[in-house]
Amino acid sequence: MILARTKLQCRECKKEYESSFRYVCDECFGPLDVKYDFPQISAQTFAGREKTYWRYFEMLPIEDKTNIISIGAGMTPLVRAENLGKELGLDKLYIKNDSVNPTFSFKDRPAGVAVSKARELGLSAVGCASTGNLASATAAHAARGGFPCHVFAPGDLEMAKITQALSYGANYIAINGTYDDANRIAAQVGDSRGIGIVNINLRSHYVEGSKTLAYEVAEQLDWQIPDHLVVPVGSGAMLNAICKGFEELEQIGLTSDVSGMHMNAAQPRGCAPVVDAFQNNSKVIPVEHPDTVAKSLAIGDPGDGRYVLKRLAQYNGYADMANDSEILDAILLLARTEGIFTEPAGGVSVSVLKKLVEQGKIARDDTVVCYITGNGLKATESIMSVLPKPEIMQADIGKISAVVK
Ligand SMILES: *Cc1c(COP(=O)(O)O)cnc(C)c1O
Ligand SMILES: [Zn+2]
Repeated sequence: MILARTKLQCRECKKEYESSFRYVCDECFGPLDVKYDFPQISAQTFAGREKTYWRYFEMLPIEDKTNIISIGAGMTPLVRAENLGKELGLDKLYIKNDSVNPTFSFKDRPAGVAVSKARELGLSAVGCASTGNLASATAAHAARGGFPCHVFAPGDLEMAKITQALSYGANYIAINGTYDDANRIAAQVGDSRGIGIVNINLRSHYVEGSKTLAYEVAEQLDWQIPDHLVVPVGSGAMLNAICKGFEELEQIGLTSDVSGMHMNAAQPRGCAPVVDAFQNNSKVIPVEHPDTVAKSLAIGDPGDGRYVLKRLAQYNGYADMANDSEILDAILLLARTEGIFTEPAGGVSVSVLKKLVEQGKIARDDTVVCYITGNGLKATESIMSVLPKPEIMQADIGKISAVVK
């Protein structure tokens, strides 16, 4: 492509490459990031456009609009959470509710960009390694784009996530092992068969989709930068991409200096390699057997873990973890205060937010954005475990009146 707007650049040694089907640096094996030649952009450029993340087309790595495969994801609500704020002691709390995307998680953002890129590169099949949500997001975009889709996932995922991906027509390969096992197999199959594995060999483009979580929040806050962000971490790709997104907004002059924001990471106790490293001031040590109710965050060997640590240092952030019972409590707290029903990954965000406020790391008058990345309907088994099961009663007004107090 002669007039390409984008290049790939090694995150480590900064070597540049033409945009192509590659994702690691030849020289140093570092990951490749997309680098742009941005046109003149102002807030007016985006105002009035379609309410999906493709409104930011100029800032996404697709050269030709006809290659876009969209199922209408993005531009999800940024909710001013007054009730939850009151409960936690925050005056300006916002929830970025990404649980209401078309496949009910934020993964529609990276998957949509990667599957579109697969079309642009002329690939004939796509796939992913998934902790559950990416399977559905990739499969839905593949269905829309007419691609076969191969999903590699650990065998113990929530039934709703498997049902959803199968319904979109994915070839679902359930592996007797962890996410890291599934990831390794997906990488081998992708390379040997030339399949576009969205989060592996298309990763450079994939992560670009998640940047729109920064663009939207900034636009929804009238281009102001929040003081604190709380982001759940699995592989760490989303947290990194959100930082890149804010930096690009500053670069094109849409927002002021972003260096004052605080980027905070949240992980479940049963799989918290990045939080452990942050708290012990050490390298990321992989967790061999993740054990957590937050299955979408059960990535023992996070690909972008060390970059998350860099981001936390760069943006004066903290990292904390929540155990299963804290996660489930936080799901109910969010549901009962704001009417937003999230899966355990969102419970991790809310629970860690609560801790950071209690520890005095976030102040009452800070503007805070808490990212809710997946929907509660995807994990009803685990959430039901802490709810009372309704007793089935006869349709007798006398008996029923007694329980309506
Ligand atoms: C995948 C996922 C995450 C973590 O994203 P990473 O980019 O892997 O850090 C968070 N929340 C939900 C609901 C997810 O599906
Ligand atoms: Zn390099």
